[in-house]
Amino acid sequence: MKIADVETIILRQASVDESRADGGQDTIVIRVRTDDGLIGVGEVDSSPEVVAAAIHAPKSNAVVQGLRGLILGEDALDRATLWDRMFRGSIYMGRRGVVMHAMSGIDIALWDIAGQAAGLPIASMLGSEPRTKIRTYASILMEDTPERVAERVSDLRQQGFTACKLGWGPLGQSRDHDVLLAAAAREAAGADMDLMLDAGYGYGTSVTDAVFVAEGLAELGFRWLEEPFLPDELGAYAELTRQSPLPVAMGEQSTARWDFELLASMRAANVFQPDLARCGGITEFLLINDIAAKHDIWVVPHAWKTGILKAASLHVNAVIGGERLQEWCVEANPLTLDLVEPHLLVEDGFAVVPTSPGLGIQLNQELMDALRTS
Ligand SMILES: [Mg+2]
Repeated sequence: MKIADVETIILRQASVDESRADGGQDTIVIRVRTDDGLIGVGEVDSSPEVVAAAIHAPKSNAVVQGLRGLILGEDALDRATLWDRMFRGSIYMGRRGVVMHAMSGIDIALWDIAGQAAGLPIASMLGSEPRTKIRTYASILMEDTPERVAERVSDLRQQGFTACKLGWGPLGQSRDHDVLLAAAAREAAGADMDLMLDAGYGYGTSVTDAVFVAEGLAELGFRWLEEPFLPDELGAYAELTRQSPLPVAMGEQSTARWDFELLASMRAANVFQPDLARCGGITEFLLINDIAAKHDIWVVPHAWKTGILKAASLHVNAVIGGERLQEWCVEANPLTLDLVEPHLLVEDGFAVVPTSPGLGIQLNQELMDALRTS
């Protein structure tokens, strides 16, 4: 089964609020076609136009080539070889960053094709007894006031969510205010709802500030403190992980096995959050998960995009070890909510793993036509 084409489709909401750290406002859908008519779908969480360039760029030389040209005509089912071919053939311009992001979307589409070819959902290709549902955590942007925080958390609790992460927004401007907002979330959540805080790089390189907030969160019974520093501040992460009374989470910006091997060897976090639409796809995620398991690090995939990424994350969450949590972006925009059909189900806080072959989803063509920019 040969790869006949790699197509990119950029979708963007009519209006985008650039002040929000909300990656659900646009996306790039990847469609890989085979010579016998199968179509695999993937998605990339990055800058859509730059991803398209990484895929469609013509060949400059043996190590600078767009990803599409590197895999056309190759065996669609030989995913590991294709991954290596894309990595080596783009190595001067790639290795990490946007080219690795683009490889991730292609890899997800190749898994979709493999599942369709085998007549199996991806979860069943990955494990013999996949979980059928995964506990979700509602993922929202932090509000500016304790009152608004309490309103949103109460609302999510009433919707049946048993866990919630609040991130970005005003966090990082004042460590006292951050703990105050966290306390408002705990009061509204009650004692038994799991809560997490994503500081959105808010504490510079100040381990002191991050420890202060971590201690406050630990007293409030939070599960983790996420991304207190920029992702390359590995020394600060390692020091915080030594000192923090609650788990430190990071890794959504990290890509490929080598980044995570370094993080693990430095003991820079307790929780890894590789994003399937950035880290190198499902193929690479499985290697990252092996590294984490070897170092006793909890893996909770990052997922803030459309139902394509949600579905891919559900399939891996269905088979990997340890406590399972699925990030569930609840920001109300059409791409996040409506791109995938049928709608992914959340019942009593649990998401149902799709059971049709491949990713087990279809795309909403009407919405694609309405939001397509290229
Ligand atoms: Mg985050």
